[in-house]
Amino acid sequence: MFTTRSLFSLLITLVAVALAQGWTSEGGLILRGDIVTMDENLRVIPNGRLVVRGDRIVAVLEANQPLPDSASLAGALILETDGWVFPGLIDAHNHVAYDFLPLYSVPKKYDNRYQWTGPKSYRQYVKQPYDLIQSSKNYDLLVEGVKYAEVKALTGGVTSIQGTPDRKATRYLVRNVENGPFGEDRIGQYGLALTAGNWDPDAVRQQMEQNLIDAWIIHLAEGTDDKSRQEFEYLKQLRLLTDKTVGIHCAGLTPDQFRQMAEAGTKAVWSPTSNLLLYGQTADIPAALRAGVHISLGADWSPSGCKNLLGEMKIADKLDELRFGNVISDTLLVKMVTVNPAFALGFDAKVGQLKTGYYADVAVFDKVRADPYRSLIDANERNVRLVMVGGDPLYGDTAVMRRLKPGDYEVLDAGGKPKGLDITNQAVEMGDQTFAEITVALQQALRADFDHMHEAFGGDLTPEQFASALAGQFQYGLVPIRLDPVFAFGDTYFFRMMNTSANAGFGFDVSQFWQVQASEDPGQRALALVNSPSTTLELLDVVVGLERRAAENIIAHRDGPDAQPGTADDDRFDDLAELDAVPYVGSSTIQKLKTYATTH
Ligand SMILES: [Zn+2]
Repeated sequence: MFTTRSLFSLLITLVAVALAQGWTSEGGLILRGDIVTMDENLRVIPNGRLVVRGDRIVAVLEANQPLPDSASLAGALILETDGWVFPGLIDAHNHVAYDFLPLYSVPKKYDNRYQWTGPKSYRQYVKQPYDLIQSSKNYDLLVEGVKYAEVKALTGGVTSIQGTPDRKATRYLVRNVENGPFGEDRIGQYGLALTAGNWDPDAVRQQMEQNLIDAWIIHLAEGTDDKSRQEFEYLKQLRLLTDKTVGIHCAGLTPDQFRQMAEAGTKAVWSPTSNLLLYGQTADIPAALRAGVHISLGADWSPSGCKNLLGEMKIADKLDELRFGNVISDTLLVKMVTVNPAFALGFDAKVGQLKTGYYADVAVFDKVRADPYRSLIDANERNVRLVMVGGDPLYGDTAVMRRLKPGDYEVLDAGGKPKGLDITNQAVEMGDQTFAEITVALQQALRADFDHMHEAFGGDLTPEQFASALAGQFQYGLVPIRLDPVFAFGDTYFFRMMNTSANAGFGFDVSQFWQVQASEDPGQRALALVNSPSTTLELLDVVVGLERRAAENIIAHRDGPDAQPGTADDDRFDDLAELDAVPYVGSSTIQKLKTYATTH
């Protein structure tokens, strides 16, 4: 039997299907805006046109240049972006499968990456929840976790990312650099650490010598002590300090080691936030730049890093200003997230620039500054207008997604700005999962609720047997963990952890980059929605989609004893806590209200 709500969603679906028969990528898309090509001449084309067809860029045009092959582009959709059109950003280092986790409280200052994996705080707040989520004997939500993380990356304009486990079901959305993102596999065997013994140096050297790979990515000197520096000498001994090697972190390297690195053509990846939170120090970037080292930026991971590359750029920029004396120009910082990683990975003829024949990995941003490079550094996730991977619009302002993918997107709230996200793809295994479903599954699992776990993966075990199996697997005991919010806006936990980190000692308020005016704050808008006398029970129940009892209780609370809206005895909600205290109202109710309030 159809309930009112399922009838309503059926109606939505039908409307969506009717609307969806519009634009397809084969018909072509013309993005008009100021094109920031990131090419050799750093050409910026005011009021230019980027012409995309299928998965490629087919033309990059000045304002008055004619369309090539214009007859075949007659049906192309023209989008006036009024923004900066950039190549999609490339995150050169990450551990994508961990990015559903929030920042953890780093208990002390470590000297190298081998010290922090043992202590209880790391195991209880990072490793155990990671195992609980991803292991196939537990919740088996690795794919969901990776997709969630890729959405966080997308919201910051990222179109390629390093460090993803390879599963068929995740070979879409953001490009996973070592998983054959262009149909060929030219990134070398990956090892977490040089000394880990889980990779074969001879095999890697052979792949390099026979030109079978373009890049080999390895953690290098992630720490500040001699042990970290010795890794560099070990790399040389292995004869792997080559122009295909990409060293991640390089936090402990000396100026002389940077000189040798530059001479060998070995590239570096820099993750300042994570370095500072763990080791209280990051790579000597001024020395690396003086030596001529080629540097890309990576966000590392969310347990000790920014939510995406857009955040990492802000931290890098601020450190450069406060500690390095402005040795990184705005242009160089933008190169570190576009052309530089593309070059380091051997993708420089495919992505990282806007050029004819390149893959249409594109990110469009608001013009928050007159200079495009400064504008990108200062932009936050509210300013991301459109993100396309291989010509496929995956994320952007709802106004844009409504034209490109009518009915085929979910709505996210980026600090009061409604954004459309499309992660469904029927051609991909598990590709019918929505972002809402993934979010709920991860949230439920991270609660580590005994009955829920028992039901999900306890098999035939009795509660006693299951309890003892859990105790055996998770020696520090499971604690509920919060799913890391996609956006930094309003994430007070994130800002508190960053701002109070004794290791990092940032010396500036990290939240300054994600300030939202009160009138645009989704929480305030949700309150305004429920307080408005014109908001009816039917609206909350049927249109917003709240549970009936939650909707009834909210209306009853607001209307007061006389049960009439807009009268003197109304008890308006002063804050979200008052709303949250209403029976049957919880975080999912509040999220629905926020989403609706910011999109209507
Ligand atoms: Zn790493």
